[in-house]
Amino acid sequence: MRALTFDKTLSFDARRADPIADDGDTLIKVRQAGICSTDLEITKGYMGFHGVLGHEFVGEVVSSPNKDLVGQRVVGEINIVCGRCDLCLSGLSTHCRNRTVLGILNHDGAFADFVRLPESNLHVVPKTVDDDSAVFVEPLAAAFQILKQIKLDGRKWVTVLGDGRLGLLVAQVLRNAGCPVRVIGKHPEKLTLCEKWSIRSRPLEDIQPRHDQDVVVDCTGSAGGFELAMQMVRPRGTIVLKSTFAAGKPLNLAPLVIDEIQVIGSRCGAFKEAIRALTEKQVDVASLIHRRMKIEQGVEAMNLAGRPGVLKVLLTME
Ligand SMILES: [Zn+2]
Ligand SMILES: [Zn+2]
Repeated sequence: MRALTFDKTLSFDARRADPIADDGDTLIKVRQAGICSTDLEITKGYMGFHGVLGHEFVGEVVSSPNKDLVGQRVVGEINIVCGRCDLCLSGLSTHCRNRTVLGILNHDGAFADFVRLPESNLHVVPKTVDDDSAVFVEPLAAAFQILKQIKLDGRKWVTVLGDGRLGLLVAQVLRNAGCPVRVIGKHPEKLTLCEKWSIRSRPLEDIQPRHDQDVVVDCTGSAGGFELAMQMVRPRGTIVLKSTFAAGKPLNLAPLVIDEIQVIGSRCGAFKEAIRALTEKQVDVASLIHRRMKIEQGVEAMNLAGRPGVLKVLLTME
């Protein structure tokens, strides 16, 4: 099969062996996949991953122990869990001690013709949600996770730092939850998108951090974002940290102690809510698509996705 792989270098492999769906796994023919910042960080050494990249996808089930699934269009949760460890048994299976993670940790990802996942990871995509939207379910689920982790009621000053792929999804989800959200970003064309969605936004250079925000959600994907979040959040406020990046310079965490800040790490999440939001067209994802490229152009597509200001680059397996 064709695949985009990372093993010290990023390369397109036209002859990678198909995954074998053993242990009752489901085999999925990938239709479309999305490039995310995590994929770009992996190529800089994040997680030490090597293999097929990619964890945002929509595909069609080719074979499964559940015959009803065959031929269905699906998206997949990315944590492959054991179901037996203490964390799985206490309902925290996304943190399974023995987990592998699609395209991120010891499990080949979806930038390929085929991908395998346990049936329990899959969600059938309603017919009204097209492939271009379905490919956003995973990152949108990560945005919905924030609503599961913090109470936003009565929080008046909420800032999303970063106008990238994830930041723009998070802003829409918080806005839909009735939260008076504001986006801080670097790219005028993305801040124009916010305007279109009636979401307030400000360019980064206009910002004077004043320790006055109830909640700051860091979607910058960089260490600098967290430092700025510490300057923007009010005493006893909350920072939600969405950025994952390869290790950099050490941070001074003293402001967290002095201002008694709550920091909440937030990773992947609520698939059902994300699918529902796309079905009800509550979130505009179409405007986030920058370009569609064939899997053969995967290396080029990754380079493009890494350029400042570029939103979602999709890989198609046609
Ligand atoms: Zn991602
Ligand atoms: Zn487990």
